[in-house]
Amino acid sequence: MGGDERLKEYWSKRNFERTSEPGVGETTGHEGESRFVVQKHKASSLHYDFRLEVEGVLKSWAVPKGPSTDPSEKRLAMPTEDHPVEYIDFEGMIPEGEYGAGTVIVWDTGTYRNLKEKPLEQALAEGRVEVWLEGEKLKGGYALIRTGKGSDNRWLFIKTKDDQADAHRNPVTSQPESVRSGRTIEEVERQTDEQ
Ligand code: MN
Repeated sequence: MGGDERLKEYWSKRNFERTSEPGVGETTGHEGESRFVVQKHKASSLHYDFRLEVEGVLKSWAVPKGPSTDPSEKRLAMPTEDHPVEYIDFEGMIPEGEYGAGTVIVWDTGTYRNLKEKPLEQALAEGRVEVWLEGEKLKGGYALIRTGKGSDNRWLFIKTKDDQADAHRNPVTSQPESVRSGRTIEEVERQTDEQ
């Protein structure tokens, strides 16, 4: 298969004759700003996958409660395998028996910039990332802080205090729909059943 070493774990977990998730993962990259996505994923348990485009792959975390706009909320974020950049557009069903079986929607997406004066890859390695998101639902500064090491590799995903912080907004519940198709998870499930 060749290709990007960083995507080996992603490939090894999936059967691309069964799932419609992106397979080849050619890290072609693109011009312009770096992108992020938050995919709402109803699998064995509901979670939100936060992904940042970094050097041709999507660095990924699973956030069980989803992102908050309230700086006092520290959301657990468990790192997951790098995904191909094409995954940023993925919305649909992952069939039963496949890794992550369930339904995925693009809950939010947009561009981001690194707020630290060092390369993002270095900030990731050090476990202290700060980015400014320009999404449709999520805007402003967000921090990702690693709190454990080795097998306890867990992170916290926290809104930073700025003019985009809002303790009263709760977009995870008030804006459940896809920014790509306008559909909710439940609508995607129903439409897939009808096919
Ligand atoms: Mn997931």
